[in-house]
Amino acid sequence: MSEILDLAIVGGGPAGLTAGMYATRGGLQNVVMYEKGVIGGQITKSSEIENYPGITQVVSGLELMEKWPEQVMRFGLKYEMAEVVRISKGSDNLFDISIEGDKNVKAKSVIVCTGSNPKKSGVEGEDEFYGKGVSFCATCDGFFYKNKEVAILGGGDAALEEALFLTNICSKVYIVHRRDEFRASPATVQRVKKNNKIELVLNSTVKKIYGDISGVNGLIIDKNGDERDLKVPGVFVFVGMKVNNEVLLQKDGNFLCEMSKNGEVIADLNMKTSLRGLFAAGDIRIDAAKQVICAAGDGATAAINAINYLEGLHE
Ligand code: FAD
Ligand code: NAP
Repeated sequence: MSEILDLAIVGGGPAGLTAGMYATRGGLQNVVMYEKGVIGGQITKSSEIENYPGITQVVSGLELMEKWPEQVMRFGLKYEMAEVVRISKGSDNLFDISIEGDKNVKAKSVIVCTGSNPKKSGVEGEDEFYGKGVSFCATCDGFFYKNKEVAILGGGDAALEEALFLTNICSKVYIVHRRDEFRASPATVQRVKKNNKIELVLNSTVKKIYGDISGVNGLIIDKNGDERDLKVPGVFVFVGMKVNNEVLLQKDGNFLCEMSKNGEVIADLNMKTSLRGLFAAGDIRIDAAKQVICAAGDGATAAINAINYLEGLHE
């Protein structure tokens, strides 16, 4: 029989990495973190972060996360680049971690920190032109629009911050927002309003994104029945995030633990879920503040409580 892990960590963003460090530094010997993509999580796609304590300069998300793996793996955390397909619990009271390629691993405890992903807007043309003018990542794709005009959809922190970033590359940035008030922080809204490369297109919805075989040519905006044609080759969509909870979905269609109606994991202040031995940390959990610092804090809390749980098993 293959080795049983003390702890499996699913997701290698700020929450998973911090959980890994606290678990191994706290004495757990056999801890594996599974990450299907880039270590560091979604912040690695952000062009800038200025609210992580101790980092006094504005840095990119990639720069912020660069040193985390080296530090957290110093204490014995193992890492596998693999996608976890499902977490379930067997009659032996152990968790089954099903990994892509039909691999199965058993673990005594699990911290799920699979984070969140960009939501689609549902606008006509979004799917058709994804990767051909429609993007969810300004850091990744902004350069394709050097000295060109682009449009951004959304009115939250992500939309406004990425709009500011794109003004360094593009000739003009339209922010198309369905209301005239923003969810973004007041400081960011002020910076946007002062930037003369940004035009705010408010109280407006996108009817469709259109183009041809070469990609996007523009988008049709509707404001109280009046149409406007914005002829831009690039559209960036930042309309919020959805949690990655698929790993908790069981074969019978139920979730492994209690979930909110929005699909977030219900966890208490110790990051304990309704299922003993299963913890949740970061953006995936209910009421998450969706900040790097908070995800890291959750990871630490979850690991400390996983250690307590394992000690209880051995008593
Ligand atoms: P994530 O960072 O989402 O990491 C989850 C990880 O799990 C991912 O790497 C993913 O690949 C992996 N994963 C998912 N499913 C599986 C699976 N089945 N198997 C294996 N691995 C899996 N926060 C701030 O504090 N300041 C900012 O300035 C800021 N700017 C942002 C800008 C943008 C554009 C975005 C999108 C977010 C920003 N945030 C910011 C929010 C911040 O990035 C998140 O709150 C934080 O990354 C959440 O961390 P997490 O570890 O919970 O999840
Ligand atoms: P968000 O705060 O949920 O904002 C989403 C925006 O998109 C809202 O303005 C919303 O409009 C709009 N929207 C939603 N669905 C739409 C649709 N179908 N069509 C058109 N517009 C639509 O999302 P976010 O900006 O991605 O941020 C997510 C979380 O990460 C937040 O908690 C945020 O604070 C955090 N974050 C923090 C930072 C930072 O700390 N610097 C940076 C980025 C993100 P309405 O306003 O009308 O609902």
